Amino acid sequence: MYWKKLSPGKINEKLFGALANNINYRSHNILGVPGTYLDAEEFYDDAPFLKDAPFLSTLIANPNHIGCHTMGGESESIFGGTQAIERELIALIGEQMFKAEENSIDGYVAPGGTEANIQAMWIYRNLFRKEHKATRDEILMIYSEDSHYSMPKGANLLDIEQAIVPVHKRNRTWDLEALNVILDSAKSNGKKYFIVICNCATTMYGSVDDIDSITAILDEKELNYKLHVDGAFGGYIYPFTNSDSRYQFQNDKISSITIDGHKMLQSPYGTGIFLIRKGMMQYAKTEEANYVQGKDFTICGSRSGANAISVWMIMMIHGSEGWTHKMNTLIHRADDICERLDALNIPYFRNPHINIVTMDANYISPELATRHMLVADKYEGDRSWYKIVVMPHVKRGLIDRFFVDLETEIANKSN
Ligand SMILES: *Cc1c(COP(=O)(O)O)cnc(C)c1O
Repeated sequence: MYWKKLSPGKINEKLFGALANNINYRSHNILGVPGTYLDAEEFYDDAPFLKDAPFLSTLIANPNHIGCHTMGGESESIFGGTQAIERELIALIGEQMFKAEENSIDGYVAPGGTEANIQAMWIYRNLFRKEHKATRDEILMIYSEDSHYSMPKGANLLDIEQAIVPVHKRNRTWDLEALNVILDSAKSNGKKYFIVICNCATTMYGSVDDIDSITAILDEKELNYKLHVDGAFGGYIYPFTNSDSRYQFQNDKISSITIDGHKMLQSPYGTGIFLIRKGMMQYAKTEEANYVQGKDFTICGSRSGANAISVWMIMMIHGSEGWTHKMNTLIHRADDICERLDALNIPYFRNPHINIVTMDANYISPELATRHMLVADKYEGDRSWYKIVVMPHVKRGLIDRFFVDLETEIANKSN
């Protein structure tokens, strides 16, 4: 994995160049498009700081990235300049972070990980319907109980049946015996097509599903499946902290990946990223999208070009080496938390490549959890776990204060 770090000057030059390649609502004849720049009373375009701020300038110019721009052919040519940045971004993420062959990935910057996950389910449902004449009753979605709630949300929207695989409570791995039972009974109930979701880091535990052992079972049973990776949480950290990651496109079992810029990358909300091998985006084509040049292949429709700009800028200002260093700093802080929990004999779950530490709730009072804003596995009923997510603002001082309180609480309990 490598991409070069760019200076702020080079970044500005490239992005203002891209903006200049868009057709501009201020200076061109644009009569038929139901869009324009942001309200000029509030967002005036001659504010002096804007000349050094390509992201804000793009927000104000307000290019629409509706549709998918990696598929060749025409897309809305008015905003071709910034759409080219999005295309470059998708290729960069696909090829450098996830080891795809050159020009083998389609994708777009979605409103969030939720949409990107549902986009994958939508594509595979349509693929099974179109290529195999699959009926509703023949398609089954499979994911673990630790998966994000966008899975049941998507299954509900798309009317797909689902089977939820239990996990082992301590190490959060899939119960593979249960998976076997689920698959065998699904087969005997007439299920023929499977949409499987693997997590490259679950939200609550930071656990990474053992994708090889899961696909081994699917393959052994000769199932027809498509596998989507939910890397909304881990996508911007795991590839940088585990050089042996199986979550990449060299792994031919994987068809698509979600990652979220607005989690680990610290980009603005609205930066979910959807990546899929070429040849499959077509199953999400809405033929009726007649007023969109190049049609629409996404769930959301209109979306701001500034979001793609923001992700590209952050990746470029750090470079791959800078980002790797930054993510490893978080890993070291999480390691430190684990050592201190070990010293206190408090059980926890931790994947060593992920910046989440999930502690046994029996050892921490609800008051302490509230004071430090730990997140619980549930808000109703008895809590089993509390997690710390080592984001960039979780510095040593903050961690120290938590442990001071925790140690005081333990001392008071034993008195
Ligand atoms: C946050 C998250 C999502 C959903 O992302 P949004 O951007 O909030 O839509 C999906 N999956 C996982 C594992 C997440 O952590």
